[in-house]
Amino acid sequence: MNNGLYWFEHDLRLADNLPLQQTIAQIDQLHCIYIFNAADFSTTKKKGAGQFNQRHMGQHRYRFIRQALDDLQSQLHTFGQQLHIYYGEPLDIIEQLNTQFNFTHIGKHFHTGVYERNLISALKIQYPNKTIINTNSYTLYDIDDLPMSIENLPDVFSPFRRKVEKFCEARLPDNALPVSFPPVVVAEQNMPDELPAIQVCDKKLLAKNETVQRLIGGELKAKEQMHHYTYGTQALSEYKETRNGLEGWEFSSKLSPWLAAGCISPRQVAAAITEYEAQHGANDSTYWLFFELLWREFFQWQQLKHGKALYHRNGIQQKSPRGFHNKKVFEDWVNGDTAYPIINACMRQLKYTGFMSNRGRQLVASCFIHELGLDWQYGAAYFEEALIDFDPASNWGNWQYLAGVGSDPRGCRQFNLNKQTQTYDPHGEFIGYWADYAPST
Ligand SMILES: Cc1cc2nc3c(=O)[nH]c(=O)nc-3n(C[C@H](O)[C@H](O)[C@H](O)COP(=O)(O)OP(=O)(O)OC[C@H]3O[C@@H](n4cnc5c(N)ncnc54)[C@H](O)[C@@H]3O)c2cc1C
Repeated sequence: MNNGLYWFEHDLRLADNLPLQQTIAQIDQLHCIYIFNAADFSTTKKKGAGQFNQRHMGQHRYRFIRQALDDLQSQLHTFGQQLHIYYGEPLDIIEQLNTQFNFTHIGKHFHTGVYERNLISALKIQYPNKTIINTNSYTLYDIDDLPMSIENLPDVFSPFRRKVEKFCEARLPDNALPVSFPPVVVAEQNMPDELPAIQVCDKKLLAKNETVQRLIGGELKAKEQMHHYTYGTQALSEYKETRNGLEGWEFSSKLSPWLAAGCISPRQVAAAITEYEAQHGANDSTYWLFFELLWREFFQWQQLKHGKALYHRNGIQQKSPRGFHNKKVFEDWVNGDTAYPIINACMRQLKYTGFMSNRGRQLVASCFIHELGLDWQYGAAYFEEALIDFDPASNWGNWQYLAGVGSDPRGCRQFNLNKQTQTYDPHGEFIGYWADYAPST
């Protein structure tokens, strides 16, 4: 009898999920799990965000993931399966479960993150006689598709993009749901599922802010958003002109939270773009959304190449950055209390919604590094806690880029905040919206 454990992580979906498909094909009974690492909820963790007095997991992302897990749970129920959600130290939980079920197979998707790869290495060491399934489902291409070795991966985006576009064939998603699931492994006793409480969103904001209303976790909602952005509104056909917007739902795809949690795969997004182009015509905008997916792809493989250096202060360039930590100046930035109205609006938007536009992220990071002279790692760590769409490679890679220690060949660029305000918020509507907002007490 083959007893399988499937450990969902950044792949909270059933469709286009190869490691899940491969696991269920090899086993007779299945135990599906998701683990919230208790250390992610603490500010005293030695590594990662905790090092900078931030939590790894903030309230907005936690709520989104819980919603995604609810969706996964109800889908699994239709197959007679069940998702068990745990909270604690991941490897201890696996060991406790293994003592109970004696698994022959463990399935978990491949991820280029250092933490995620360390977990797989630890599983392989701890369980040398088990079959560990660790295939990719998080990127557009597989490692063997790339037209260069990881060591030879360009550290600059453009040469990477050109090579990938020239030599990589699109990998199509497998959108068919599994035909069936093996039955649940019968537990002698269930471990208690004691989870942190979910903080509900401020009612006042929920009533008026479309981003807050629409950012709901789950595979079903991800599909709805993909449809909304393409066939529903045809906003995709104008993406290149609108993508620098600061507030609103249609100016960009808003797929990042679902991509980061794995409620949708980048292959599904790429295939949906191609399908839409066949019906509504391709233009610069439809191509540009794919172009942005290539940025995501670039940072994922950069993370595999550089490992911890992607989160290191001196960056992949091993260059000493400017900036020092100053608690008061940092807190003013976090709370939107700086001397720059555009920055304050963006930071309040992030604090209260868990989302910020790409333009906003560039501006607040530039201000953090240049105008405020702060240490970029603290900014990246705050984003890690606050963003719903936090993804280690995209976040730390983009921060390094802006801090001049990452993959930007032009060095540390500074945005002119007055000029940016005139261009992207000429009538002060965005600034006014967030200046007027005060959370209900
Ligand atoms: C300082 C900083 C930190 C960031 N942190 C994150 C993060 O933690 N998680 C994250 O997903 N993105 C991050 N980004 C990238 C980008 O801002 C977001 O992906 C984007 O704003 C999400 O909105 P969207 O889905 O509407 O994007 P769209 O404009 O619709 O783009 C489509 C998709 O392309 C990808 N993408 C777009 N721009 C980038 C980029 N610059 N780098 C990597 N991928 C990109 C995302 O997956 C996005 O969902 C960061 C950017 C900056 C400047």
